[in-house]
Amino acid sequence: MTVWRDVIGQDPAIATLSRAVTEPASMTHAWLFTGPPGSGRSVAARAFAAALQCPSGGCGECRECRTAADGTHADVDLIATEGLSIKVEQARDLVALAAHRPSVGTWRVIIVEDADRLTERAADALLKALEEPTPRTVWMLCAPSVEDVIITIRSRSRHVRLRTPSVEAVADLLVRRDGVDPPMAMYAARAAQCHVGLARRLARDENARIRRHDVITLASKIRTVGDAIDAASDLSTIATEESQASSAERDASEKAKLLEILGGDPSARTQPPHIRSQISSLEKDQKARATRFSRDMVDRALVDLLSVYRDALVLHTGAPTALVNEDARQTVQQVAQVLSPVRVLVAMDAIGTARERIAANVQPLLALEAMALELRLPR
Ligand SMILES: [Zn+2]
Repeated sequence: MTVWRDVIGQDPAIATLSRAVTEPASMTHAWLFTGPPGSGRSVAARAFAAALQCPSGGCGECRECRTAADGTHADVDLIATEGLSIKVEQARDLVALAAHRPSVGTWRVIIVEDADRLTERAADALLKALEEPTPRTVWMLCAPSVEDVIITIRSRSRHVRLRTPSVEAVADLLVRRDGVDPPMAMYAARAAQCHVGLARRLARDENARIRRHDVITLASKIRTVGDAIDAASDLSTIATEESQASSAERDASEKAKLLEILGGDPSARTQPPHIRSQISSLEKDQKARATRFSRDMVDRALVDLLSVYRDALVLHTGAPTALVNEDARQTVQQVAQVLSPVRVLVAMDAIGTARERIAANVQPLLALEAMALELRLPR
């Protein structure tokens, strides 16, 4: 057993990180972990943090290893933003934290999960800490790619690139770590296109599987303008439902907890001004979180939809490659039968454009409608 056991399919990265743990000359105070979503950037960063704190360099079993990995170690701080950006105030808090010596461990580790969401001012604030490092502090920044992080931060960090793990490696992890049945694990790993977190959710949540199936079948249903408009609205609804299902309960309990701390009366219709302002600031944060989550869900649905056309291309080429949607082969066949390879590529392009537009803050429904019109099958 080692601390690296859940860092799957990343042998070169593990070799680099292990060397940094054992050889002081290979260690540095700022690391940048990049890799596609779901490749396990924060899992790798946490394993590295554990290995640095562990007296035996990452046994995976001692108290240091366990607390570092689950985020409760006193000297390992994990910052994950739920809003659309990390603000300069948050960055300044981190810089202040970084100045402190570790309290119990060998290192003070600060993991920033979404370094790509640092605002420009927040990145500038962090930069100072990276330029004048405190001796026992290690920064671990995570982002999809190096281009997502401003160049001055990039040039002061050592880069660790993670790859997309194989379907087999993800399925194996689900079986070993989460106790999922092997056939379900294979389906989930493939359908999630090796996104570890998503594969886990698909394996464990039937509603997530149903929602995914609904998205996949849209590809064979769009024929008229009316169908296209309906499909866009379905996609948007699926994403909103997914987002609301996960946040409603949490929002309510956060609000109740805040009221309790402030000594407010939960049943009162209006609250005193000092409570009202705190509540409205919480609601603003919750709204930002919901916006981000709902946008992420739309993007995820588009990645799922894209996989149908990718599979249709596989059928066209006759390559013996496994389909992402082996479980929806009929839908893939229908699409491949009526769309030539060129038309399949046009459809894939339309989905790519919609994803870019939504990422650039175009209203999702508008972007989805424009896309769905391009996905109409010939009658
Ligand atoms: Zn250990």
